[in-house]
Amino acid sequence: GAPLRVCIVGSGNCPFTYIWDGKKNAEGAWHNNDRGSAVAKIIGNNVKKLQKFASTVKMWVFEENINGRKLTDIINKEHENVKYLPGYKLPDNVVAVPNLNEAVQDADLLVFVIPHQFIHKVCDEITGRVPKKALGITLIKGIDEGPEGLKLISDIIREKLGIDISVLMGANIANEVAAEKFCETTIGSKILENGLLFKELLQTPNFRITVVDDADTVELCGALKNIVAVGAGFCDGLRCGDNTKAAVIRLGLMEMIAFARIFCKGQVSTATFLESCGVADLITTCYGGRNRRVAEAFVKTGKTIEELEQEMLNGQKLQGPQTSAEVHRILKQKGMVDKFPLFTAVYQICYEGKPVKEMISCLQSHPEHI
Ligand code: NAD
Ligand code: 13P
Ligand code: CA
Repeated sequence: GAPLRVCIVGSGNCPFTYIWDGKKNAEGAWHNNDRGSAVAKIIGNNVKKLQKFASTVKMWVFEENINGRKLTDIINKEHENVKYLPGYKLPDNVVAVPNLNEAVQDADLLVFVIPHQFIHKVCDEITGRVPKKALGITLIKGIDEGPEGLKLISDIIREKLGIDISVLMGANIANEVAAEKFCETTIGSKILENGLLFKELLQTPNFRITVVDDADTVELCGALKNIVAVGAGFCDGLRCGDNTKAAVIRLGLMEMIAFARIFCKGQVSTATFLESCGVADLITTCYGGRNRRVAEAFVKTGKTIEELEQEMLNGQKLQGPQTSAEVHRILKQKGMVDKFPLFTAVYQICYEGKPVKEMISCLQSHPEHI
């Protein structure tokens, strides 16, 4: 058939959707990758190589004014996202499109990669505009909470757009993926064939993909580990030491598994927690992520999460604190707050003025020890 047209919905720091021709060196000049750009150009490289995919990729960019210029103009002329991923060149087959409807209207494959807080607004804007035969994949780490309790971001996209949706989650800290360092990731797909198509689109020698079928588990891993990362950041701020931090990570993992078992509608395979989306993403985020970094600063400065997000992230968005609030509302509604002391403590510290040092005492009577 005709080559499949790819549209990326989002243009933030999360980089696997970018298409790299090279990087800036220390002097700021462009240079190509040593191996003739052989590695990790993710979508762009792959669409150029594979007949199956159309070689131009549209990327919806939420328009912003950068020193009097439109971000889309900067991206299309200079091929660099100067705001969210400075220092990496985007090749000319990725076209920044400021109009969301125009970006998605003829897409066959949609890659969603925006902070989870914007998903309703974005889907509402394109309801009825996306071709029904299109397939989606979400890289968004977060959840939503509604009258029936847990709502996955993939559920929102599926319901609002009427398309099949896979998920991609893994240990993929942005700047390391952008630097083309070896990593793994997990695609979860209820229809395996669709997951395998996205694997073709996204896999490179340094970005290795495993496809599994319990997509809801994969997605919950990606969302919930951000809460644990906030807890790990609090440990760092308190200088708790490595044993305590390891305990927080492990108890966090147990809460992730328990939460998935209680709230997932589909099957939950324990093996999925051993994939990149599980322990690996948990570890990398608890050591190298933005959620960890801001949580540490929260302890050290006494500022609010909102203030620190503004000051430290230049427009990038934290997912962990808000996810802790969403999870808290779900747990409260089901009368299960006591079973999730770490998730609960993170929420109460972020939003209810609970002293950070009480996080550890909250863990002393963890269900895991009783
Ligand atoms: P980000 O934190 O860099 O946030 C900036 C993004 O938000 C840009 O795409 C921007 O256009 C968009 N935006 C800002 N204001 C907006 C508005 N009012 N309406 C709509 N969009 C707006 O985003 P990111 O790091 O690309 O994260 C997107 C998702 O990918 C998150 O769920 C995140 O957890 C996930 N993710 C991120 C990383 C990472 O290391 N950055 C790694 C894996 C997964
Ligand atoms: P942070 O949002 O905490 O930076 O985590 C990024 C991530 O999800 C790495 O896989
Ligand atoms: Ca092609």
